[in-house]
Amino acid sequence: MNEKIAHNVMPMMPQNYDDVWQDLNDHLNAIRQDAGNLDAVFRALDLHQHKTGFIKDRFEEIARFKFYHPQDPSRFLRVQFNPKRALRLKGIGIKIPPPNISITNNGCYLCRDNIAWQQQGAELGYDMEINGSRYVAWMNPFPLLPTHVVVSSTEHRTQEWIHHRDGGLEVSEILNTLVTLSAQAPGYIGFYNGVGAGASIPEHMHIHFCQRPDDDPLFPLELVQVNFSRDTSGAGLVENYPLAVAVWRGTTSDVLKTATEWLSEWAQRNQPRLANMTANFIATTDPDTDQSSLYFAPRERNRIWRGGISDLIGGLEVMGEFVYTIKEEKVHLEGGIVDYFTLEKILTDIHTPLYG
Ligand SMILES: [Zn+2]
Repeated sequence: MNEKIAHNVMPMMPQNYDDVWQDLNDHLNAIRQDAGNLDAVFRALDLHQHKTGFIKDRFEEIARFKFYHPQDPSRFLRVQFNPKRALRLKGIGIKIPPPNISITNNGCYLCRDNIAWQQQGAELGYDMEINGSRYVAWMNPFPLLPTHVVVSSTEHRTQEWIHHRDGGLEVSEILNTLVTLSAQAPGYIGFYNGVGAGASIPEHMHIHFCQRPDDDPLFPLELVQVNFSRDTSGAGLVENYPLAVAVWRGTTSDVLKTATEWLSEWAQRNQPRLANMTANFIATTDPDTDQSSLYFAPRERNRIWRGGISDLIGGLEVMGEFVYTIKEEKVHLEGGIVDYFTLEKILTDIHTPLYG
């Protein structure tokens, strides 16, 4: 951390915001050049955001519970108990801007102009260009996993995909951003939650990147068998999992090419129900082999989890990890009230076949 940044770690007035932003970005760009990937950049941004006080959470407090299928111990689902996560619904930051500053896009929490005054200068991001488009990496103040980054488009534009709304995101753009970034952040989990499939800010395009948990790095979905012979067009299909999920594995460019073509055909074959569909995409890159993996779980907007609203089920849950936030739920986790089938039911409630 250079000296100038260190002097500015306390919340500042937004008029200094651009200067401090530039200093931080220069510093992070130097880190990126040294490291050759985004991991060191994200960690440095995380550290900086703890120092400014924007992130107060101590990630170590999250406990994790694993539930095995009683007849088949190779199958499991798990829960993280993350009480601070409940606070996110209240939001943080101020709601009324200082005089002479106006609210843009209804106070959208992913627009930089709003963030500057809402978080009183404490929240800063990292500018990135991906395939010719501009994005900002922000730290999530209520992390689901270590070093939880939200990468949002610099411009205020919808999270919705093209299949539901004209002007929505092309699938190729979602995949390019997600898989390209994943290749630059090996060892991270990246996910895009569609609108109605876990996206908490549907008005502004964003994807999540998180480190894996140290104690249990692989997620249930990553450990299930994938059958690459049932589908001849390059996708694998997961077996013995409560959700229908298509998988691609290979080099970054191969994965992007085959998945984009496959999803275009998928959309054609799903025309009658397409407007009611949404999706979760998950991307990872193996740090040892540089191989990319991409997962696609189709979702139906009106297919809800009967214990709550479907919006709460996003990429993490699709990977087989559920987030519990209230104390009573911890008693259930420890007292044998929750088991494999409790969790499986959440996924079967939102299950939809690849072809309807
Ligand atoms: Zn916005």
